[in-house]
Amino acid sequence: MPRNQSGVKEACLRRVLVTGGAGFLGSHLCDSLLKEGCNVACLDNFSTGSQQAIARFLQHPDFKLTTHDITERFMIQVDEIFHLASPASPVHYRRRPVETIKANVSGSINALETARESGAKILLSSTSEIYGDPLEHPQREDYWGNVNPIGPRSCYDEGKRCAETLFFDYRREYDVKIKVARIFNTYGPFMKADDGRVISNFIVQALKQEPLTVYGDGTQTRSLCFVSDMIKGLKILMNTEDSFTGPVNFGDPFERTIGEIAETIIRLTQSKSRMVFQPLPEDDPRRRLPDITLAKTALQWEPTVSFADGLKETIQYFRQVLKDA
Ligand code: UDP
Repeated sequence: MPRNQSGVKEACLRRVLVTGGAGFLGSHLCDSLLKEGCNVACLDNFSTGSQQAIARFLQHPDFKLTTHDITERFMIQVDEIFHLASPASPVHYRRRPVETIKANVSGSINALETARESGAKILLSSTSEIYGDPLEHPQREDYWGNVNPIGPRSCYDEGKRCAETLFFDYRREYDVKIKVARIFNTYGPFMKADDGRVISNFIVQALKQEPLTVYGDGTQTRSLCFVSDMIKGLKILMNTEDSFTGPVNFGDPFERTIGEIAETIIRLTQSKSRMVFQPLPEDDPRRRLPDITLAKTALQWEPTVSFADGLKETIQYFRQVLKDA
């Protein structure tokens, strides 16, 4: 907890709930909120979250963990809710599609009901996936997207689209104070080694001197934002005036091909690994790049960590994970 100039501990600023607080982004958010002096309640069912991600602050006196499935009703009296609970890696949501859509629809209703009852502000971690395989490039917030409603990614894409709808309907009907963040690909320490996402897969493969599994021909693109920048963005959005709801894109405005990312990781890890090409998963978006004009102008937010620096920190983290395994 922060101390004032006379060294006395200041009273807790805010009571904050983070659903999905034991996930990759959730754990970084809890950590950052605790450092700010907030009282943090974390709700997670550990379906994809992990004890490892929260171990570094589990004993913090202002941290309270509740193991709970977001699809079941809950009530916690708080000032703010960051609603992150959902499987987020394509590998996970393809494996558990019904759980994924339930987390996003029932889970969002439950989180919104808690916000309504406690009068809390609530922020949704939405996703670039709501743009689907975009026909407009880069993607601006006013683009409605190109989403397959019945494909293997739909549980997540349509689940998040429905969650956004629910957020705006709770605002219109019940005057709940909402914020919607559209999060583009994010990476950093505390991603799970078996998460299945591109950065964790490639780094772990490169460090183990195994082939890097490039899906398709590697010309599809993504932009990659370092986790500390993303957390700053979410916190800035939460602190905006009640009239500012978003949706706001948060992501790195630099487009890279998956092949380039593989090459960069091989170089930075000084690995002897090569690339192997595997089939592109169904409905894998060809291109993705955020237009972050709104975040820049309305929130004065833009990423500050370079790709090389972010990767170095993430590589160092995975080196340690593999050493400890
Ligand atoms: N990808 C890849 N090899 C991997 C993992 C992912 O080539 O081992 C590709 C994947 O097909 C996609 C991109 O990397 O085009 C990003 O995948 P990720 O699962 O990280 O996130 P997505 O943006 O698809 O949600």
